[in-house]
Amino acid sequence: MTQVLLASRNPKKLAELQRILEPALPGSQIIGLDDVAAYDEVPESGATFADNALIKAREGFAHTGLPTVADDSGLAVEALNGMPGVLSARWAGAHGDDEANLRLVLAQLSDTPDERLGAAFECAVAFVGPHGETVVHGRMPGHLIREPRGSNGFGYDPIFVPDAADGRTSSELPNDEKDAISHRGQALRALAAVLAAGEDD
Ligand code: IMP
Repeated sequence: MTQVLLASRNPKKLAELQRILEPALPGSQIIGLDDVAAYDEVPESGATFADNALIKAREGFAHTGLPTVADDSGLAVEALNGMPGVLSARWAGAHGDDEANLRLVLAQLSDTPDERLGAAFECAVAFVGPHGETVVHGRMPGHLIREPRGSNGFGYDPIFVPDAADGRTSSELPNDEKDAISHRGQALRALAAVLAAGEDD
C-alpha cells in the first residue's frame, strides 16, 4: 500500500481527494496532515494559486518523504482585476472568516453594474514525488449576485452563480453536482488522469 499525503487538515478535502484519486492510483492510500508527524508549515506567500500549491506540496514531500498533493483555490472577480484571488481566505483580514470576506467583496462591488459581476473560482493542484512535479488547474466561470442564497458549501458559494448551474448559486447545489463542475473537481480529475497515465509516479 503506497501512501500519498494531502497537505491539508480539511476533512472534506481529504474525502474528496480519496473519492477522486484513489481509483486512479490502485494500491494507494491518501492520508492528511493529521496522520503524519507535525512539521512547521510555511505561510501561503505565493503570487499565484500554482505557486502556493507547489509550496505546500514540496514542503510535505520534503518533511515526510511521501508523494504529496496540495491545492490552492479562490475567487477571481473581473471587476476587481482578479482579486481576491490568492487572498480569498483572508480578504477581510482574519483567515477563514467566510461571512466577513463575502460582505467585503459585495461592498467593494456596490457601484459596479450587474453586467460587470463576472467571476470564476480557480484552483491549482500540485503533486510532488520522487519522480518530479505536476501542476494541474481547474476553473468554474460564473457571476456574482448581491443577495446570498443557499446553505450548502462554504466561502463565497452563496453569492456565486456558476454558468453551468441553471441560475442556482454554488451554495444551492448538492455536493455531487458542485463536484461535477467545480474548479477543484476539475483539477483533481485532471491530476487523476495524469497519475493514471503514469506520466508521474
Ligand atoms: P483554500 O484553497 O482552501 O485555501 O481556499 C481559499 C479560499 O477561497 C476559501 O477560504 C474560500 O474563501 C475560497 N474558495 C475556494 N474554493 C471555494 C469554493 O468552492 N466555494 C467557495 N469559496 C471557495
